Amino acid sequence: MPDLIVEHVAKEYPTRGEPLVVLRDISFELSAGENVAILGPSGCGKSTLLHLIGTLDEPTSGTIRLRDENPFSMNEPQLAHFRNRNIGFVFQDHHLLPQLSVLENVLVPTLAEGSPTDEQVARARDLIGRVGLAERIEHRPAELSGGERQRVAAARALIQNPILLLADEPTGSLDRTNALAMGNLLLELQRQENTMLIVVTHSLELASQMSRRLELDDGSLAECA
Ligand code: ADP
Ligand code: MG
Repeated sequence: MPDLIVEHVAKEYPTRGEPLVVLRDISFELSAGENVAILGPSGCGKSTLLHLIGTLDEPTSGTIRLRDENPFSMNEPQLAHFRNRNIGFVFQDHHLLPQLSVLENVLVPTLAEGSPTDEQVARARDLIGRVGLAERIEHRPAELSGGERQRVAAARALIQNPILLLADEPTGSLDRTNALAMGNLLLELQRQENTMLIVVTHSLELASQMSRRLELDDGSLAECA
């Protein structure tokens, strides 16, 4: 059975008049070790969809199941724990904490459960090495380039061994060379970790690096050529 099952998901936002329908009917599935790009122009609802899959917001209708669990049946603390344990996020802007070192930033998701264990610190060091920043482990975000900061964000997203890695325009703030490198790095990490990876982007170039492409158009998804 696929690890992620999205079925007939719709999302509308209330307005003073008619509700704004952003997603009409979204269905797709993904299994461990698979990656997919979701493409579409700015404003078409990519971030909305990623927020729903990431359990940061609830669909208006339809279901999302992750490893056969329905996150939206959980209470807030259960859901926060579930999200922290199962889902890693990479955003367009790294969202690193400026006062923390690279190592500390990567360990942030583990702090929800108290101090990081030796094993978690070892995993953080390993991930930082794999994203090519072993020499920068004590640096602060301000001392890194944009591409390096996104690589820290990727390591942080993986610290809890998530089953699902979500990236929202992860190359949106990078130049072309760094964008290509970031796309390749996400794929390499996804393969090594055998997670699922969903990248939403308006960049055809980034989308073309993924194994599969879906296009979000008028609130529905279609397979791209
Ligand atoms: P994309 O990521 O593809 O650029 P978004 O998912 O951010 O698109 O937004 C899709 C549409 O939904 C836009 O018209 C946006 O203005 C609207 N929207 C997004 N979030 C909200 C919200 N919290 N309340 C109302 N409208 C929203
Ligand atoms: Mg967006």
